[in-house]
Amino acid sequence: MHGARASTGFPQRGGPVQAFYSKAGAPRRPVIARAEGLYMWDSEGRQYIDASSGPVATNIGHGNRRVLQAMTEQAQKVCFASRAVFENEPNIELADLITGLAGSGFERAFFVSGGSEATEAVLKLARNYAVVRGEASRHKVISRDPGFHGTSFGAMSVTGDPVSLACYGPMLQIMPKVPAPFSYRLPPNFDVAGYAEFCAAELERTILAEGPEQVLAFIMEPVGGLATGALVAPDSYYSTVRQICDRYGVLLIYDEVMSGAGRTGTFLAAEHWPDARPDLAILAKGVAAGYTPMGAVLAPAAMVEAVANAGGFLHGHTYAANPLSCAIGAAVLREVIDHGLVARAATQGAYLRRRLEEIQRGSAILGDIRGKGLLMAIEIVAVRDSKTILPAECQAVYRLIELGLERGLLLYSRRTANGLYGEWLMITPALTVTDAEIDEIVGKLADTLAAYERELRAAGRI
Ligand code: PLP
Repeated sequence: MHGARASTGFPQRGGPVQAFYSKAGAPRRPVIARAEGLYMWDSEGRQYIDASSGPVATNIGHGNRRVLQAMTEQAQKVCFASRAVFENEPNIELADLITGLAGSGFERAFFVSGGSEATEAVLKLARNYAVVRGEASRHKVISRDPGFHGTSFGAMSVTGDPVSLACYGPMLQIMPKVPAPFSYRLPPNFDVAGYAEFCAAELERTILAEGPEQVLAFIMEPVGGLATGALVAPDSYYSTVRQICDRYGVLLIYDEVMSGAGRTGTFLAAEHWPDARPDLAILAKGVAAGYTPMGAVLAPAAMVEAVANAGGFLHGHTYAANPLSCAIGAAVLREVIDHGLVARAATQGAYLRRRLEEIQRGSAILGDIRGKGLLMAIEIVAVRDSKTILPAECQAVYRLIELGLERGLLLYSRRTANGLYGEWLMITPALTVTDAEIDEIVGKLADTLAAYERELRAAGRI
């Protein structure tokens, strides 16, 4: 057994321990030693500033004293107690806090261990509810292409990502897709409003084509994540989508795994479009801000009670409503409330946007800046006027991540759909970010972009 592993190059002690996560031959990554606020230090003592909160997760920065204390206190009381036997106070406290912040229509919360689990749970709650209402024919969930809802099988069936579907598609029941309303690079003969209108009309056309009595839900990210680079549609898109869902009795689900917990300047991004409130929403990332794995489903009381009255939600996880995780989540949300971090995301987001616009003027490859609050992205192009995408072999965003790392700047990206729709980097610092930290991030980013531009020119790419 050991011999067989060694002969296939299976990592040995001291070998490439990240082998599951990186391409063969990729350089070893720095080893994290400690972190405080937006700063991280590796084992060689190098300092980095985090421009993206990891994968848009560490919303209140690292090393928060109140959260660390809540973690220790709860751990000393009880870390785990089965939901089948006990209720727990931290779960009740977190549910009260999060439903209070989420506002009307979300009186109930169910806690899981991350975003993909939240997607699974919300799809099953929607289905469970349809069945108890006597609408068992409803089972199709329409989503957007591109779009991202996680990597578990149910989540992949609604994720619009041709790369993962090419590999895992045969194992899934792939659900119907409609185009995401991109705003920067549009199909010929469309303006932004017209294309958003077309994409909303595609939802109605797809519901009719699939059979409205079979369509359970439409799931979308109200402000996009990595799949679309912080895409925000025109206001009319949201209300039209809401009206279409109402017309056919289709549940509207907002995936706020990235956009929720205050990041866009409102607790739920849904608040930006009050006439398009979703029926269900999911959160993760910012809820526990990287201090523990955590996700949440927000639902109306009437829906949860209908399911409870019919025998209870046919779903669960060992770690659902875990006392230790809930205590950490509650401490994070108390920090968000007490330090006014939701409003801060709006003001600091406005300052970040202004600073990004300044460096855009001096950069040939920074094509677009978009997003809401502190959920921002910058799109990288070969030619700004024509919005030309850089050739695939440049692997632009991955090279920019490397160049950033050399300058002590942590950037986050992935080439969605192999760059088919363009490529972008998320600029999503913690909600605690100061003006001086924004200046530092933007300064290092300008330097990183300039270094890459020089490389592209030297290689005759631009
Ligand atoms: N939904 C969205 C919008 C996301 O951005 C992500 C993760 O990036 C997920 C779902 C999946 O979350 P997780 O990685 O916690 O499973």
